[in-house]
Amino acid sequence: LATTESRAAATPMMEQFIEIKAAHPDALLFYRMGDFYELFFGDAVEAAKALGITLTKRGQHLGQDIPMCGVPVHAADDYLQKLIAKGYRVAVCEQTEDPAEAKKRGSKAVVRREVIRLVTPGTLTEEKLLSPSESNYLMALARVKGAGQGGFALAWVDISTGTFRLSETTAGRLAADVMRIDPKELIVSDRVFHDEELRPVFDLIGAIVSPQPSVLFDSSSAEGRIKRFFDVATLDGFGSYSRPELAAAAAAIAYVEKTQLSERPPLQRPQREADGANLFIDPATRTNLELLRTLSGDRKGGLLAAIDRTVTGGGARLLAERLMSPLTDPGAIGTRLDAVSWFLAQDRTGHDMREALKAVPDMPRALSRLALNRGGPRDLGAIRQGLETARRIAVFFEDAEPADEIAESVDRLRSLPGALSELLDAALADELPLLRRDGGFVRAGYNGELDEMRALRDQSRKVIAGLQAQYADETGVRSLKIKHNNVLGYFIEVTANNSAALTEGDDAKARFIHRQTMANAMRFTTTELADLESRIANAADRALTIEFDIYDRLTAAVVEAAEAISGAAEALSVLDVSAALAALAGEQGYCRPTIDHSTMFHVVAGRHPVVEQALRRQAEGPFVANDCDLSPNEGAEDGAIWLLTGPNMGGKSTFLRQNALIAVMAQMGSFVPAGSAHIGVVDRLFSRVGASDDLARGRSTFMVEMVETAAILNQASERSLVILDEIGRGTATFDGLSIAWAAVEHLHEVNRCRALFATHFHELTALSEKLDRLANATMRVKEWEGDVIFLHEVGPGAADRSYGIQVARLAGLPESVVARARDVLSQLEEGERKSPAHQLIDDLPLFSAEVRREPAPSKGPSEVETALFELNPDEMTPREALEALYGLKGKL
Ligand code: ADP
Repeated sequence: LATTESRAAATPMMEQFIEIKAAHPDALLFYRMGDFYELFFGDAVEAAKALGITLTKRGQHLGQDIPMCGVPVHAADDYLQKLIAKGYRVAVCEQTEDPAEAKKRGSKAVVRREVIRLVTPGTLTEEKLLSPSESNYLMALARVKGAGQGGFALAWVDISTGTFRLSETTAGRLAADVMRIDPKELIVSDRVFHDEELRPVFDLIGAIVSPQPSVLFDSSSAEGRIKRFFDVATLDGFGSYSRPELAAAAAAIAYVEKTQLSERPPLQRPQREADGANLFIDPATRTNLELLRTLSGDRKGGLLAAIDRTVTGGGARLLAERLMSPLTDPGAIGTRLDAVSWFLAQDRTGHDMREALKAVPDMPRALSRLALNRGGPRDLGAIRQGLETARRIAVFFEDAEPADEIAESVDRLRSLPGALSELLDAALADELPLLRRDGGFVRAGYNGELDEMRALRDQSRKVIAGLQAQYADETGVRSLKIKHNNVLGYFIEVTANNSAALTEGDDAKARFIHRQTMANAMRFTTTELADLESRIANAADRALTIEFDIYDRLTAAVVEAAEAISGAAEALSVLDVSAALAALAGEQGYCRPTIDHSTMFHVVAGRHPVVEQALRRQAEGPFVANDCDLSPNEGAEDGAIWLLTGPNMGGKSTFLRQNALIAVMAQMGSFVPAGSAHIGVVDRLFSRVGASDDLARGRSTFMVEMVETAAILNQASERSLVILDEIGRGTATFDGLSIAWAAVEHLHEVNRCRALFATHFHELTALSEKLDRLANATMRVKEWEGDVIFLHEVGPGAADRSYGIQVARLAGLPESVVARARDVLSQLEEGERKSPAHQLIDDLPLFSAEVRREPAPSKGPSEVETALFELNPDEMTPREALEALYGLKGKL
């Protein structure tokens, strides 16, 4: 498209388009023409399809029609939103000079145009394009080879709020960290993107990854770039950063500059996240536990939606962040819990404050738009209202002695600059227009000259009304009207058959100047009217200029106070979250967990936060609370493993998940759905639950299961919590049993972590005889007239049966199939009674780390081996033994 030949053959406008487009090959180019953004060539074809709008054509290029489509400027946000959601990037190209200016250069001259902004998923600021309850992070990944630790660092910024964070990471943890932060766009250098070793990580992260030129990530110029952006001579005051961190931060800044072009968003100084300060949750676990979204991608049904009682956008974002990055320091967790406890103990403060908070607008986002010159009077209004509410909220705490975290937040509210509030109050009108150019947002009485101009403008309008009456009188044409349009300005209009009164007679001729003849009407003006008109226009122009000046001054004052404003906004979010968690705890009957450095995990009467609420909503009976105690034995240090058996539908998955969720909630600083809970901080949470099919990527359920299990067995430490549901299910019984068996032994002997292990292999329960920290638990059921009734109660011991057939019957399997299955089962059970699982316990040496190094057998046992395995010579008569021998021979 951008070849010299094609340029030479183009019209001047197309030439300009082709040149601009060549500089933005990976974005759709929104090319401003009057009231439309037009798209051409391939962009037009793609956009028309993505937006469902009509594809037309405009002229020809190299003998071919040029495809074109367009969107009106006033509705551009809606179209941008759709395109961004579909993964496109958009370059917005505006006319940067007045068309009149261009005309002066020659009749064919093209209006100058420039791309003023790149719209990408991670750099949005428009209210319409953002979800109020979600952060909109742009993340940069940098790698500096040979810089310790694996040399990776992440920087993430939300230009709609100014948040800027940094953290180091490793290749192994990368995917988990990215998912924890949940950015909308991840930029990496071309070089890193094409590194084969990292391919699986980027595959996992998905479409948000955007490769960028490697120069953006250059660590040698990183410091200079950061200093320039923050306009400081040294970074000493920022704390110390590693080289990868500097490179990541600089890349994020470079990308922000690249996409925002001339404007500079009010980013805060980058804050480091300390290593190990957060509970590590690997990507599979995060997905499976449905923390943010359900497996099908809905927010409804996820944990966040179930526990979110915040009333502000900032609060909702902070809650999501805390949920995604729970802490590991009992002290820090305690500080958060203290704040929740305090609100819970108050009669009214929390309630009143929450009511007041509802009026808090999204200050950080308004601030960001103002700083980026994309704001409007309503953004100033949002700051005014936010500051006002902040001050009102501080008053609630006047005579109180709140918990530390609350007191700190209230202090930040109190330190807001009062002068700014007064300025905004005095200058801004009560009702504000959306657009600056509409004017009318400055309060009457604020500026003398503005008031005068407005009066002149309004007065003149009245004078015109008077003039109309006067002319009608003088000419005797009762229907004479003074009208206004953009071409003629003000004019006098009479119908054609009345026109004589204005065109005949010397007086009339001297007075009424003919302007236009229409089919049924004639239009005139007078010197008086023209005079008035220019006075009105001048006054309106002058008034608008004054308003623009005031707008600029107000914006500058707001941007100057950016730090205090974001500080206050953060404080309001903290208050919102603490009070919301208190409200949740009160409403749902949650308890404050005890968190310490031990390896305890003792939950009494725990419930599943999401299932419990769903059951209540559907009025489907109460949720049955269950205990879970994985605390170390008397005098020991390592936590216990529970082996959970029970029928399908008995509640095993629910129990497993609820305990994982209780750990997450406790460490994020929330009360938990339990009677009591004592949890020694968990460093890493792992789960393998449900069959998260990954067939799209060509991996079978079994393969996914094994990959996830491998990750757990390789990584879980003594402080970890592991939840394993039904591993070994996706393969032949003996393979599955063997794998599950070995996994339990490994968890017990090598990982030594706290774990819940649900299985349908009843044989495994025999292991508790040998493994001292392994306990059996089962989901209780009652049998009644051949049917099962699920009690959803966890008790000690092992399930004696799996009730699969009863469950199948409940599901509506034909009676004949059920009866036949019963027969088959009883035959099989006959064989099972002779099964040697118990004997394995005695015969098989216990799992040891040694065993791990042996090469794994390449295939499962053969039919003969299986048959042999099932023989028990001690219980055989000589005749049976001989028959068995014949049988074996027959299988060869
Ligand atoms: P399993 O994993 O044993 O097949 P699930 O955990 O999927 O069983 O639970 C099956 C059903 O039982 C779910 O629909 C759930 O709503 C319900 N259920 C599970 N646990 C409880 C409980 N403690 N109290 C009430 N209902 C429960």
